[in-house]
Amino acid sequence: MDVSRRDLLRTAGALSALLASGIPIAAKAQAKQLVIDCHGHYTTEPQELNVFRQTQIAALKDPSVKPSAASPKIGDDQLRDSVQIQLKFQRERGTDLALFSPRASGMGHHIGTAETSADWSRVCNELIHRICTLLPDNFIGVGQLPQSPGVKPDNCIEELERCVKSYGFVGMNLNPDPSGGYWRDPPLTDRWWYPLYEKFVELDVPAMIHVSASINPNFNTLGGHYMAADTTAFMQLLTSDLFKDFPKLRMIIPHGGGAVPFHWGRYRGLAQDMKKPPLEELLLKNVYFDTCVYHQPGMELLFKVIPVDNILFASEMVGAIRGVDPRTDHYYDDTKRYIDALQLSEDDRRKVFETNARHVYRLDRNANFRRHI
Ligand SMILES: [Zn+2]
Repeated sequence: MDVSRRDLLRTAGALSALLASGIPIAAKAQAKQLVIDCHGHYTTEPQELNVFRQTQIAALKDPSVKPSAASPKIGDDQLRDSVQIQLKFQRERGTDLALFSPRASGMGHHIGTAETSADWSRVCNELIHRICTLLPDNFIGVGQLPQSPGVKPDNCIEELERCVKSYGFVGMNLNPDPSGGYWRDPPLTDRWWYPLYEKFVELDVPAMIHVSASINPNFNTLGGHYMAADTTAFMQLLTSDLFKDFPKLRMIIPHGGGAVPFHWGRYRGLAQDMKKPPLEELLLKNVYFDTCVYHQPGMELLFKVIPVDNILFASEMVGAIRGVDPRTDHYYDDTKRYIDALQLSEDDRRKVFETNARHVYRLDRNANFRRHI
């Protein structure tokens, strides 16, 4: 071991300062609380990625232009440059790292065939992996599944396994409606999904339930489809015994759970009328909500209604809402500010910002995460 005299002196100095402070060493080691944003998307991709996708889509009509399934040529410097805005926001807002996945609206599972989705998912997941490798202090990977409408989700198992085992991804986004707003596939509780859930459980990673773009003109992607899907997914889970079959399956409902917290009384009542156990028992050992709620009253409601053990800090930065709120002069998606204003106890803050995510995503297994502890 190569330990310099200077290192030894520095360690000895730090130790004596700790002892002199009178604070037990264990308590000091606990003092640093991480801020983990569990919901970030790669929304600032280089143009080469969009060209690849456009060519891939054009090839559905004219196979002669089909791009190679190999990744588009994007250099490391381009990747680093492309996420500078995320890094700036992380610094300014005081987040330590983000769980980072491909652009959700770009997953586009409704486009083309299962093969189209497989090629596209591999390309997008590889870029996420490269960013997490280039910037291990800032990003941990979450993947995109190659879902396709009408195709059994068994076809996603290989990519799920590859992302977790080869890339070290800690979760995947699971689209409850690959048809893009028409809900043509069976509900999340159907046995249709079970082989994929078995793999999630075996790999011990959670699924964030996240739709992609809507092609149904009735549903605006960000304001209609996302919110409706979050609420719909929760209600699907409520009507089922899914977590009796998969007691270890973990799901995150993003965007604060859609309308669920606001209508918690309705969902409690529905469960009661269906002779189901209380929601805490039925769902809250497996279902979590993130904090992508973009105003103070909404955040207050979320924390009033949902137990703190089931809330994970997230901002979806840089994502759905990019502007500044003229009433506060802060970005709408600067969600940490709303949580800071809640004046949570030290224990609750640590749960929301750090330990709940560590538990749900089993982050301690991830090499990038271990750099922080
Ligand atoms: Zn999202």
